[in-house]
Amino acid sequence: MAERTRFGPAGVPPMFRLMGADLPDVPRLLREEDLDAFEYEAVRWGPKPQITREHAEKLGAAAKENDVRVSLHGSYYINLSGKREIVEASKRRLIASATAADWMGAYVMVFHTGFYGRFEKDFAFRNCLEALKEVSAEIRRLGLKVKLGPETMGRNFQVGTLDEIMTFNEEVEGTQLVVDWAHMHALHHGALKKTEDFRSIAERIEQRLGTERMKGMHCHFSKIEFNLQGERSHHPLTEARYGPDFRMLAEVIADLQMHPTIICESPLLDVDARKMKETFKEVLESKQSKA
Ligand SMILES: [Zn+2]
Repeated sequence: MAERTRFGPAGVPPMFRLMGADLPDVPRLLREEDLDAFEYEAVRWGPKPQITREHAEKLGAAAKENDVRVSLHGSYYINLSGKREIVEASKRRLIASATAADWMGAYVMVFHTGFYGRFEKDFAFRNCLEALKEVSAEIRRLGLKVKLGPETMGRNFQVGTLDEIMTFNEEVEGTQLVVDWAHMHALHHGALKKTEDFRSIAERIEQRLGTERMKGMHCHFSKIEFNLQGERSHHPLTEARYGPDFRMLAEVIADLQMHPTIICESPLLDVDARKMKETFKEVLESKQSKA
């Protein structure tokens, strides 16, 4: 698949459902909207895939035909640093999601790693790291091709600071970097205020993970509301009182010649994904006219 910056929604846009679209219709409808990525939401799944293999494969075939890049968001019910039974159940959920992700040809399975709970933060993080190594080994044993995508998280009780996520990417085989910019903005109480703030994060990533992993990161983006603990809720791009501003990220993507996949998690899904794509085009064009 050609390396370029791609845009798409987190889940099936409500309008598609109103139109009576079935899951395998989604890639064609996205393409008609000039979008080229789609994140399938498996966020309420238990220990077994909640989609048939046939249906998932149809989605995958349609995505290929329409040049839409598929990712899958795994179950929210994951904690790789809890009691033994919880960790084992979490691993089964991750394997179920990874299995279905492979059926649909998804390139990454995004997920939330866990919670610090009563543990010391570094201890909880180490628990997650060890469990992730086991999941990674199991995925390879099963011959699954999907990459593991632990995501940067937005609340101060969740495992998933940028440094933690980078360590997972360094130490666990078969991982893909997943950066949720809204979560980082919320966790650090509105830290993404100017283009330089985005650029310095991209540079930090490049230093640790190398240029290719930085350029090809999988992103989530929306505006976000936060309190002292971090994330409260995702908001549409038009809401001026919330950050972060997508144009700043677009500047950095253009300057560093990145080719991320950007999934829109605002309540307006495809509508805001298109807005981001438009903004990105404007940024590219203004840079070309200056060059
Ligand atoms: Zn997520």
